[in-house]
Amino acid sequence: MDEVRRKMLTKFPSLIPKNGDCTEYDGYIQILDEEYRINITLPKDGTLRDTKLTCEWKLEQVLKKYDKIVKQRLIQCENLPAFLDELKSIAEKQLSFQEQNHPSYSKTNCAQLISELEKIGWEHVISVDADFQSFQIMYVDVKERKHVMRIKLHLQHPKQAPTVTVDLPTKFDVVWTSTSSLLDVYNQFIHNVDLYQDLWNNLNELDNKTWILEPDNPTYAATNRRIAISASASVQITVDPKHPSSLPEIKFLGSNQATGPLRENMTSNLHLWNENESLLSNLSTVLGVTFPSPSDTKKEDFSADCGICYSYRLGTEIPEEVCNDSRCGQPFHQTCLIEWLRGLPSYRQSFHTIFGECPYCGTPITVKMSVNSM
Ligand SMILES: [Zn+2]
Ligand SMILES: [Zn+2]
Repeated sequence: MDEVRRKMLTKFPSLIPKNGDCTEYDGYIQILDEEYRINITLPKDGTLRDTKLTCEWKLEQVLKKYDKIVKQRLIQCENLPAFLDELKSIAEKQLSFQEQNHPSYSKTNCAQLISELEKIGWEHVISVDADFQSFQIMYVDVKERKHVMRIKLHLQHPKQAPTVTVDLPTKFDVVWTSTSSLLDVYNQFIHNVDLYQDLWNNLNELDNKTWILEPDNPTYAATNRRIAISASASVQITVDPKHPSSLPEIKFLGSNQATGPLRENMTSNLHLWNENESLLSNLSTVLGVTFPSPSDTKKEDFSADCGICYSYRLGTEIPEEVCNDSRCGQPFHQTCLIEWLRGLPSYRQSFHTIFGECPYCGTPITVKMSVNSM
């Protein structure tokens, strides 16, 4: 047995010669702790120059970058075992570099993540993406509301904190240290969700018992509601998420006739606001109204279309400008009304206010331009 053959047998026992003159080898080569399928066909002239090398996809990807070096080593190496030694060390360096920088390639890291998800409980894990880098985890609160947290691991996980996306009314900053785990992130999420139970209980009552004109499908983060009061008036409230029982920010929308009495009621009833009562009950008391309820009214009665473009939604706008003549009370989008008034001979503008007449009844009407409509 010649020197080369003996070396091949001792160093690469899983590579089997396919023929008697040893010009083709087929089998496995071990790199780090994994075996890779490889096939080598040597030229008949006894050199390595035109050696054909085919290997499985993963190893091929690793060696792709080193194509030139591999070819050069084939020319310079004395024999096949010497070349394979060099090939192994190139691949080893590249693979261990990948494992350090992209933990998703590392098996040990995968096992670690699986055990972390196990601690959270698989019943809470909604989805895991294919490369094990993003997860969706759910928490069901005491009122059976479902809350989902999306976690995307940092490439340097666990050295760097993962990116977390949640639907909460305030900013959620993950506290992350070198010893943190996904369970810690989940527990922080639960803690935050539990903080806003009072807020969502109050807002859910509004959502169920009144007509919410905006937002359409409120998220957990949305602390504002526009509640219908009558066909020509609504109230926009913005609740403090940390103090949902205290007086919210209140803005009236609608014709002067319709909103005037509401403003007066609010001023004289403010002292009746009772933080032990629900938001809905306090708003009813202070504004002196019974909010129209979905149980006995239709939403269309309170979400009248714009009298100019005949639609309700215009981008993000809803019809907020209302004719002040109580016999008319026609609502318009601000954009539509400004455009209409600008086309009239009676058009007049003073600073940010436009004067003109209602397109329906001719009653004088004014529009205050917001910054984005100027
Ligand atoms: Zn319109
Ligand atoms: Zn009018």
